[in-house]
Amino acid sequence: MQTTYLSMGSNIGDRQYYLHEAIRLLGKHPKIMIEKVSNFYESTPVGGVKQDDFTNLALKVATLLEPLELLSFIHEVELSLNRERKIHWGPRTIDIDIIFYDDLEMQVENLVIPHKEAFNRLFVLKPIFELIDKDFKYYASIEKAIAELSVSEQELHVIKEEKTPRNRIEDAVKEILFAVGENPNREGLLETPARVAKMYEEILSSQRLSKFNEYKLFEIDSSKTDSIVLIKDIPFYSMCEHHMLPFFGKAHVAYIPADGKIIGLSKIPRLVDYVSRKLSVQENITHDIGDILTDILNPKGVAVLVEGRHMCVEMRGVKKVNSITKTSYFLGEFKENNEKRMEFLESLL
Ligand code: ZN
Repeated sequence: MQTTYLSMGSNIGDRQYYLHEAIRLLGKHPKIMIEKVSNFYESTPVGGVKQDDFTNLALKVATLLEPLELLSFIHEVELSLNRERKIHWGPRTIDIDIIFYDDLEMQVENLVIPHKEAFNRLFVLKPIFELIDKDFKYYASIEKAIAELSVSEQELHVIKEEKTPRNRIEDAVKEILFAVGENPNREGLLETPARVAKMYEEILSSQRLSKFNEYKLFEIDSSKTDSIVLIKDIPFYSMCEHHMLPFFGKAHVAYIPADGKIIGLSKIPRLVDYVSRKLSVQENITHDIGDILTDILNPKGVAVLVEGRHMCVEMRGVKKVNSITKTSYFLGEFKENNEKRMEFLESLL
């Protein structure tokens, strides 16, 4: 095991959320153990770009990964948190840097350890200083740099760490349990708030994603692209935004390629997952599938038919058991050309 020190910063949107998420995602790697997390700090951004304050922290991490392996996993985590880094030193949802990797010194094309800016940045050093021991190789130089930087113009202060989204859900579920007349401390319920919080992470995992990007496009001979590509019976599970109860069923998706552009077949079920895993209504899911597919492929036409059962209809209120709601959305040739639309609908029979 090697001990490494990472620095993280965020200055877009819910900054503490991105930091908490980054820590959680890093910790999911089987060869990474998060040992300590520093206080959260707020700092004024470096560089000439006008932007919000940063929230920064440092991590002490034990790892079995080599530095470059660690770096590439860090990039994966940054990517999955939607980082769009357009300007150097510009605003970003999350930025993670390897600052120290034990006593190692290395310099390759995309990685310099210790990080080449490390000793110039108070927002990097101060959080790390919380985590290191006196026998750490760079202890004295870090201490000295902090003293020097503290008299310069860099501003930095500790801020209160907010509850993580998971903790918020746990607290809220305990409240609900109390309110419905339960005892949240009885044996069967002890783990329930934590389980529910974890479950929401999964079934509402698209909630904070701004874009569907899990796909690849392929080119085919464009003379053969007048035929319909159809995927039937794609299962979906979602949560209605009015009652937070499940609705689920099947989606049928078809498109007519243009310019020989097609999408990998397995990506359409991914897209259905993507649009389903948030609070929604069936009409929106149906439209989202059609609109996103149109954005990605710019096809000659898209047809979407969704069949769903709604627990808020079946379990409560009028209790229309087993009734199926159908929603459809047609674009391009499927909208304009009756024959094409009939061809789609008949192929579902
Ligand atoms: Zn509902």
